[in-house]
Amino acid sequence: MGSHKNRTVLVTGAARGIGFAIAEAFAAQGAKVALVDLGKEDVTAAAGKLAAAGTTAIGLAGDVGDFEAMREAVTEIEGALGPVDILVNNAGISPKHEGRRHEVWEMDPEEWRRVLDVNLTGCFNLTRLVTPGMKQRGHGSIVNMASVAGKSYCDFVGVHYSTTKAGVIGFTRHLAGELGPYGITVNAIAPGRIDTPLMRGVNPAVNEAIAGETALRRLGQPSEVADMALFLTSDQARFVTGQTVDVAGGWLMT
Ligand code: NAD
Repeated sequence: MGSHKNRTVLVTGAARGIGFAIAEAFAAQGAKVALVDLGKEDVTAAAGKLAAAGTTAIGLAGDVGDFEAMREAVTEIEGALGPVDILVNNAGISPKHEGRRHEVWEMDPEEWRRVLDVNLTGCFNLTRLVTPGMKQRGHGSIVNMASVAGKSYCDFVGVHYSTTKAGVIGFTRHLAGELGPYGITVNAIAPGRIDTPLMRGVNPAVNEAIAGETALRRLGQPSEVADMALFLTSDQARFVTGQTVDVAGGWLMT
């Protein structure tokens, strides 16, 4: 997939896990990569790793749920790397309390709002900021991180998480229709259980049980999700839009 060279790619939640794997995968294709994440130290270190390997990369701290902070981040990124060609809305949270979700009857409304702000409004904020330029230039690709939990009932996540991931799927379909006439594709990835820091916080028996229910009998690797992000933003996928693709090894197939 040789279509990413010199493209400017913005990845949110990129300091670790799936987001970092995506940033690394684009870097390996010769893209210029902007990493956005909450903590300055972590995101600077992550961008530093890519820069050390020869990539043009910058790391910026900011909360995707904060529109003004994202406006400043996008201005800085476009000043340093040029207009954003590819946006990957990856940042997401799935709160756990002593390794388990809060059931709806015990969930703090503030926790509900925070998950909506990060997982869903975060996608809106970045999309809102980069699409005027993409529309003007007549090209661009957006990939949103959904989850199989947005399509099927999943015992391990809270109602806020599955609601936002279902929302990401609807957001993706709607924007594919709205932005397609301007040459912009919008797709989503629905990962199954991927071995990242987010998932290591839970009881290992849970991960073993999920691996057992997965057709391929294992958890996924962040690089396997990153490969799908590369494909969906490549020339090979130029006629693919509005889709949510499972990268789940056959777990919770719908
Ligand atoms: P992770 O917790 O390992 O990494 C998420 C990153 O996002 C962290 O670096 C975190 O600091 C950052 N982040 C969190 N809130 C943020 C905010 N408000 N602003 C900016 N950055 C923020 O998670 P992961 O497992 O790599 O998950 C990445 C995405 O994939 C999430 O959207 C998640 O819901 C989705 N997903 C993961 C799995 C899985 O099994 N790991 C499964 C389905 C979907």
